[in-house]
Amino acid sequence: MSRQLYTELSERSGIDAGLQHKGILAFYKTEKAAEDELQLVEAAAELGLDMGVLNPAECRALQPQLELDVLGAVHYRCDSHLTPMLLMSSLQQELLASGVSILPRHEVTEAEVAGGAIKAITAGGKRFMADKFVLAAGSWSPAVAAKLGIRISLMPGKGYSFMRPDPEGIVGIPALLCEARVAITPMNGQIRYGGTMELGRMNDKVNMKRVEGIVSAIPRYFPGLRVDMPAQEEVWYGYRPSSPDGLPYIGHSRRLQNVVLATGHGMMGLSLGPATGLLVSELVEGKSPSISVSAFSPDRL
Ligand SMILES: Cc1cc2nc3c(=O)[nH]c(=O)nc-3n(C[C@H](O)[C@H](O)[C@H](O)COP(=O)(O)OP(=O)(O)OC[C@H]3O[C@@H](n4cnc5c(N)ncnc54)[C@H](O)[C@@H]3O)c2cc1C
Repeated sequence: MSRQLYTELSERSGIDAGLQHKGILAFYKTEKAAEDELQLVEAAAELGLDMGVLNPAECRALQPQLELDVLGAVHYRCDSHLTPMLLMSSLQQELLASGVSILPRHEVTEAEVAGGAIKAITAGGKRFMADKFVLAAGSWSPAVAAKLGIRISLMPGKGYSFMRPDPEGIVGIPALLCEARVAITPMNGQIRYGGTMELGRMNDKVNMKRVEGIVSAIPRYFPGLRVDMPAQEEVWYGYRPSSPDGLPYIGHSRRLQNVVLATGHGMMGLSLGPATGLLVSELVEGKSPSISVSAFSPDRL
């Protein structure tokens, strides 16, 4: 659904976020990872997703510039990729042009709740009243929800990434290194290397040992691809808002009638964002959502 919505968005608005439909190659080196991937393939095939299991020769045919040391891969042909920074800046332009007000650095610090509804919130020192509110504060959502008297179970899963130039376009198709849990994505003439899942309290530390884990995994799968260790200031980190059952929280909370939650998308926030956005807009307008949101209920845990 998200792929279709991202495609429609770029066609309608001319937003060029580098959206490409080349799929993703999930490479594995061990029988155990192959088994896990094949189980996933079976489940996904039942949903009608387009994918194929590749032997090493078929992998090489798809990635001829890369030296490969793998047992095989699953090609998720149904997947796509884009450049998040381009998407965010062009989306912002599109929203501003449509009359949306964006208020940066307006942290929600207080909420007034009465009669089972939010009356107003304070953000950036100003009071805002509205008929409907959407709570979409990523890993900070539990803290914001607590101001409303709602408890949601969520952990910040810290991950790191860094960019390296790829002038020759060596990595044509995004790659997942299954056992190492590393993602390699071509973006706008560069490659993004990312991974790791650090669960714990939020902090501004960059754990270079974790980054080293990403760097050292790459030549185990692609022996010819040697990536220098980035300097600490080149490393980006972010938080994946992770729920205990891996599903997002989308929908109303039974405690308050005029707030819709949209959080807990874990490792898939960018992929699931457009679908969640559609569902949230339908719920806010009081329409029946395109798909049932009962599995995503904020009250389920
Ligand atoms: C290394 C890494 C790689 C990833 N790769 C992928 C990928 O390939 N594909 C994919 O789909 N996803 C990926 N993700 C996951 C994705 O980034 C997240 O799922 C997504 O960012 C969650 O979006 P969100 O809007 O819910 O939260 P966020 O992006 O965290 O946004 C929350 C916002 O709420 C604001 N906020 C917090 N508190 C308050 C407050 N009190 N008042 C007002 N505003 C507040 C924050 O400032 C922030 O702007 C990756 C994540 C990491 C870390």
